[in-house]
Amino acid sequence: MEYIVSLAKRRGFVFPASSIYGGIANTWDYGPLGALMKNNIKNEWIKFFVTSFDDMVLFDSAIFQNAKVWEASGHVDKFNDPLVDCIKCHKRYRADTLLEDTLKISVEGLSCEDMTRLIKDNNVKCPSCKGTLTSVRTFNLMFKTKMGPMADDGEDIYLRPETCQGIFINFSNILKSYRVKVPFGVAQIGKAFRNEITPGNFIFRTLEFEQLEIEYFTHPNDVDKTFTEIMDRVKRWYQYIGIKDENLKFVELSEEERAHYSKKTIDIYFKFPFGFKELQSFANRGDYDLSRHSKFSGEKLEYYDEVSKEKYTPYVIEPSVGLDRLFLALLVNGYREEKVGDNGIRVVLSLSSKIAPFQIAVFPLEVDNKSINLAKKIYEDLKLVYRCTYDEGSSIGKRYRRQDEIGTCKCITVDPNSLDDDSVTIRDRDTMKQDRVKISDLKEYLIKCFT
Ligand code: ATP
Repeated sequence: MEYIVSLAKRRGFVFPASSIYGGIANTWDYGPLGALMKNNIKNEWIKFFVTSFDDMVLFDSAIFQNAKVWEASGHVDKFNDPLVDCIKCHKRYRADTLLEDTLKISVEGLSCEDMTRLIKDNNVKCPSCKGTLTSVRTFNLMFKTKMGPMADDGEDIYLRPETCQGIFINFSNILKSYRVKVPFGVAQIGKAFRNEITPGNFIFRTLEFEQLEIEYFTHPNDVDKTFTEIMDRVKRWYQYIGIKDENLKFVELSEEERAHYSKKTIDIYFKFPFGFKELQSFANRGDYDLSRHSKFSGEKLEYYDEVSKEKYTPYVIEPSVGLDRLFLALLVNGYREEKVGDNGIRVVLSLSSKIAPFQIAVFPLEVDNKSINLAKKIYEDLKLVYRCTYDEGSSIGKRYRRQDEIGTCKCITVDPNSLDDDSVTIRDRDTMKQDRVKISDLKEYLIKCFT
């Protein structure tokens, strides 16, 4: 993990936020390469899940919604974590995590009173200073603020803790304006905010993060079939972006472990350096959300099937993944160190060409005008089709290493012979194999590499 955090900072993937002011806990900024890679993931996700299916549409709802949305969704009452404080050093912990780590037992489904008793009976102390802990109480994870210029009498408003509610409350708008028919899915990418008590592990758990969510609406009788079909799409997505099978684990949650709205949940775990942890959740939310919003808003969120003449509230299948967590998983999945000859260690980020910040780097081997002009011409041409970078600084070996560790798939080198034989050398990131290719055949060669 340390190597990945250091690479991410050194090469401009991810920086600690507000660092010139001493930072802000668990908040990160994405640097030039990180921002590119994040966008590539989003674009590929839209391409894979939305544009390649006729039963999917894209959506983009506001971060702020009427506060009633969060009452209806259950977040005002139920989106809580159990919290405990140290009386001596005032450090704050999530009581369930603390108990599970200290006593090595599951505390799923236990009340605050039960956890307080466990702490007392087992003499659990503050892990930092061994001070006495307070009773366990709940803490709502939503960030609350006020709307309007007068903070005191402004209306309470929340930063959304998940993106999907914006889709549910627009169910009728989407139906009426786009004429979609059940079964269909709505996909959305957007920021979500949670006042997590114990964030950490770099970008794994942060206060502000992006979610990639799909709400797939289906007939209640078809829900099991739809669950399997959409899960199949999700499994193919992980293959598509190059996540290794052995890094994924599918875990079905028990009733006590599931969120209040869920009838069935499978969490998809990824093998992070700190263990297998949740990467994505995949839930059958039933008709919970549409029914609750119908009740709270007074507007019936139902579907009328013109063929069967049946009116019903669809069930929802929800695959939901955090973009930042997926970003970290992709770095971990692709990172490796290799011994190369006597020259030491080569760091390689084996990212799929679909999401690597750059697909191609172009170099002149020697920095004479003729080589530079030819290399720049090739670069300018390829830039129109591929994500390319150009580098003429330092030795060729160092330039290869620089590209390997940021995941660039192919390096194209113009050498003095290129001027005579109209050919370049193309080196592959993963195998380091080199091919000599005619400049006139370059496009055809690259099409084969990137499809
Ligand atoms: P966790 O158990 O890790 O807190 P969760 O079960 O509360 O996650 P969901 O509400 O199911 O998470 O959210 C869907 C996805 O959003 C998660 O699988 C994860 O990828 C991402 N996510 C949730 N909370 C965070 C966070 N604080 N930071 C980064 N990503 C998050």
